[in-house]
Amino acid sequence: MILDRKQAEEAIRILERRYPNASYYLDFDTPIHLLVLAILSAQTRDEVVNSLSKRLFNRYKSAKGFADADEEELISLIKKVSFAKKKARSIISACSIISEKYGGTVPKTIDELTSLPGIGKKTANTILINAFGIVEGIPVDTWVIKLSSRIGLSGSRDPEIIEKDLESNVERKYWHNIAYVMKEHGKTICKSGVPICSKCPINNICPKNGVSKRG
Ligand code: SF4
Repeated sequence: MILDRKQAEEAIRILERRYPNASYYLDFDTPIHLLVLAILSAQTRDEVVNSLSKRLFNRYKSAKGFADADEEELISLIKKVSFAKKKARSIISACSIISEKYGGTVPKTIDELTSLPGIGKKTANTILINAFGIVEGIPVDTWVIKLSSRIGLSGSRDPEIIEKDLESNVERKYWHNIAYVMKEHGKTICKSGVPICSKCPINNICPKNGVSKRG
């Protein structure tokens, strides 16, 4: 069952109130650092990514710094993340383009960002929102995929369709934070295994209230 617009907005409003401190979870100082961490974060825990930032950004401070990095040295600095070699190549390539084509400044549009190696729509939305305060869309990560289905905000598992469903059913003022609110809810109550529906603030709206297994 899919919630109607009124129910969807009510669910998001309640979750926003429940998790007032939900926010982006990677530690960054500059847009280029955010871009690098966002590439590293794919299929890697936030704690692991954040643990690398100090050493990494002491060594490479700018897009040019990353563009000129020795690939083997960069791989050794990020070896704790999954697919370190592939990610190192994406970082060097993306930063070379940023350095040469954009004068070292991270571009500010979805199309420009998604044309860079290692940057998909989710990451592009994440960079625009958190580095520049530009809200063009909703970052759809694994928590958003999982919870949108559970809560009845979308009937799809396709990130692009989920983003469209959410954007048409949730007020724009919630877009910038919805992924982080859902992550908090998924970590604390609507867990991947068995959710704690009895303690859920939206159990009177959610069509999966009482679900006893993954789903
Ligand atoms: S009622 Fe249960 S399944 Fe629905 S959002 Fe709450 S915890 Fe998740």
